[in-house]
Amino acid sequence: MHQAEALALLRRIDQRVRQQLAPQATAIDQQALYPQAMLRGLGDDGAYAALLPAEHGGSGLGLATLMAAIAEVGAACGSTAFLAWCQSACVYLLLHAAPRAELQTILAELAAGRRLGGPGLSNAIKHLAGLEPMRLRAEACPQGYRISGELPWVSNLGPGHLFAAAAACADGDKLAFLVDCDTPGVQLNAGPPIAGMGGTRTLCVKLDQVLITPERVLAEPAAFAGFIRRVRPGFVLAQAAVGLGIVQGCLDDILAANRRDGEQNRWLDHSYDELAAELAVLWREAKTLAPLAEAGQLAAPRVLRLRAEVSELCLRAAMSAQLHAGAAGYLLSHPAQRRLREASFIAIVTPTLKQLRREIHLAEQTQPA
Ligand SMILES: Cc1cc2nc3c(=O)[nH]c(=O)nc-3n(C[C@H](O)[C@H](O)[C@H](O)COP(=O)(O)OP(=O)(O)OC[C@H]3O[C@@H](n4cnc5c(N)ncnc54)[C@H](O)[C@@H]3O)c2cc1C
Repeated sequence: MHQAEALALLRRIDQRVRQQLAPQATAIDQQALYPQAMLRGLGDDGAYAALLPAEHGGSGLGLATLMAAIAEVGAACGSTAFLAWCQSACVYLLLHAAPRAELQTILAELAAGRRLGGPGLSNAIKHLAGLEPMRLRAEACPQGYRISGELPWVSNLGPGHLFAAAAACADGDKLAFLVDCDTPGVQLNAGPPIAGMGGTRTLCVKLDQVLITPERVLAEPAAFAGFIRRVRPGFVLAQAAVGLGIVQGCLDDILAANRRDGEQNRWLDHSYDELAAELAVLWREAKTLAPLAEAGQLAAPRVLRLRAEVSELCLRAAMSAQLHAGAAGYLLSHPAQRRLREASFIAIVTPTLKQLRREIHLAEQTQPA
């Protein structure tokens, strides 16, 4: 039953990708077109609600189905797949947050795509790995907390949108919270031009004494560490799906190039068959890990290893697609050119490839395989 529903969802998304997204992919990349209607459409189709069990009004199709949906999007446009991940990450955070009435209402709106948002958690995740200080400070006040500081990059933002973030109190304790972009004290500023992912509405967020009421606290200090431990594996797995989709897009480009230049292309490294086999192995692992992550039974190193392997495969596949396409792939309008930038984004977005390798190394030292 679930399998038939999952297939029906993926068919709806495939159709939406072909009809709505594929024709816009170049404009999203080169003219910073923000694919708002597409993101809302994915909500209408039921993509984000796959994460929610029936008691939360979802379909219960699960993380593996959401990942397949994000990957379908990513094969056509990495930026839109990343935005779909941002949205799904917010849904996942709220699903595991303290059960508060206001958060439950917002959860339903996010899952349906009626409201959009992004996770501003790179800083907190890097902080917990010992890589940088917390950028946001929280001061307790009679109405809740006042938050100040700056996050240099948060995607999927805009008027009416939301973002999740974390801040440190004076005693070093941390809390996670959800903010409306329109809340007094929140400023969204465009940063310097970026090499790719132009349509992701990635903005620098400044918070000046922003009031967070108890209803908007996702995890109070006492629950913070457990909350991050609970959500991180699913959060990272869903992000890996963006990379798996980009690899599929590279394979599509290679196939198209081989129809033209197959004889010469067989001299290249990383052939279609080799990359497709590697992709299948990573998908098998992802599908094994997804239900474990949802059940809270997945230890971090296994998912970090998969996420690192996805980054590495993305880089190899994108370079290979460019070489297979030859001079055609050097045209700015060619998808292989765009995918090079999408693939390098997968390796530099938190958790970055360098952070993943460091964390895996540290985990192996404390717990030899
Ligand atoms: C397109 C895009 C979208 C993103 N979306 C999100 C999001 O939705 N949520 C989220 O929490 N994070 C987001 N990020 C941030 C991302 O996850 C990483 O935290 C960020 O790329 C820094 O990674 P790093 O660990 O390599 O940085 P570091 O190792 O800290 O930095 C590497 C080098 O880059 C420099 N550097 C770091 N940041 C900047 C900057 N803003 N400007 C100039 N130089 C800099 C550092 O000084 C250092 O020299 C996004 C980043 C990008 C590029």
